[in-house]
Amino acid sequence: MPRPMTITEKILAAHAGLPEVEPGQLINCALDIVLANDVTAPIAIREFRRTGLSKVWDPEKIALVPDHYTPNKDIKSAEQAKVMRDFVREQGITHYYEIGCMGVEHALLPEQGVVGPGDVIIGADSHTCTYGALGAFATGVGSTDAAAGMATGEAWFKVPASLKFNVEGELSPWVSAKDIILHIIGMIGVDGALYQAMEFTGSTIEALDMDGRMTVCNMAIEAGGKSGIIAVDDTTRAYVNGRFEREAVEYHSDPDAVYAAVYEIDAADIVPTVAFPHLPSNTRPAAEARDIKVDQVVIGSCTNGRLEDLRVTAEVLKGRTVHPDVRLIIIPATQEIYRQAMHEGLFDIYLDANAAVSTPTCGPCLGGHMGILAAGERAVATTNRNFVGRMGDPTSEVYLASPAVAAATAVAGHIALPEDLE
Ligand code: SF4
Repeated sequence: MPRPMTITEKILAAHAGLPEVEPGQLINCALDIVLANDVTAPIAIREFRRTGLSKVWDPEKIALVPDHYTPNKDIKSAEQAKVMRDFVREQGITHYYEIGCMGVEHALLPEQGVVGPGDVIIGADSHTCTYGALGAFATGVGSTDAAAGMATGEAWFKVPASLKFNVEGELSPWVSAKDIILHIIGMIGVDGALYQAMEFTGSTIEALDMDGRMTVCNMAIEAGGKSGIIAVDDTTRAYVNGRFEREAVEYHSDPDAVYAAVYEIDAADIVPTVAFPHLPSNTRPAAEARDIKVDQVVIGSCTNGRLEDLRVTAEVLKGRTVHPDVRLIIIPATQEIYRQAMHEGLFDIYLDANAAVSTPTCGPCLGGHMGILAAGERAVATTNRNFVGRMGDPTSEVYLASPAVAAATAVAGHIALPEDLE
């Protein structure tokens, strides 16, 4: 009998060809997908060429997404995107998404059915952990590891210990998945899950739609987590059926699986939350931050640029206009989300409110383009990082929040809750 295992341990054991694994064990795993973007792929490609191999391991299992500085913001970013595009053509890589089909990678890959339940995925991007929402083991790696993955289809891991976050109960109005994960990061700190798998369970998590689950797993890395994961249920199945291009494999934690720690969280204790500069763990209730005036609001990114986020944004903005001192930038995370939002009439609401709507891109999330902050400026963003200078000048500030709080803030001109608006 194998030892009782967590969902993460089961996925890793299966991909290592072992009956069981335990935390701390070094294993070599078969990979299902290797991901890189316009920043990391050029380095991975250079390292791949140093192996002397002429062909990648499997051109159908590598996903390359030009999302960070695209549509190209300058000559350097154009050159980087070109390195990736040329490699795609040379190698016959199938999962490549050109401008016009592109999206922010961690919204795009689940949407396009490239990643799914039971997978082991490495990505040369730290928010690769997002795909844990599908019941997969997904983790960010450096470009060199991505190059090795592209060459061999394998990667070694130290099996992470697991932490369980059991969230029970109903969320209050305007409290969302973003507030759940900000609450957790505020509770355990930015190193509270260092090299551990964050497993999210409980009735509150089960009640989240897939967009919300991806928001939660997306920010596992902000607590230092190796990965985030939510077990497959009917919500997951409804999402992946007819979309995921391979066979979904479901794993569930054994009832007697061992966790490094178990956190019990009452949903009633979670309120609309804002992370103050310059750490995602620097959280406070949004209701206590109403004195913070802002210059810019960004709604988008791999954390909160999905359709549900855009719908909530429209619900708050409908019939209102953005405060004259604020620039509101809304960025649907993929072309499909963009199209659906347009069909639902959300763009009319945004434009009537005087918001700017962008083609999908990471853009301002990493201070790339489409909304760089000047010295001393403040932004509220639905993104996942608020480190010094993340969105522009080192003296600028980023406050992380949910789409509902971000939209209300854009209207009020200071951090606000939707119920604050007339
Ligand atoms: Fe990274 Fe931001 Fe792009 Fe997400 S949206 S992949 S956090 S740059």
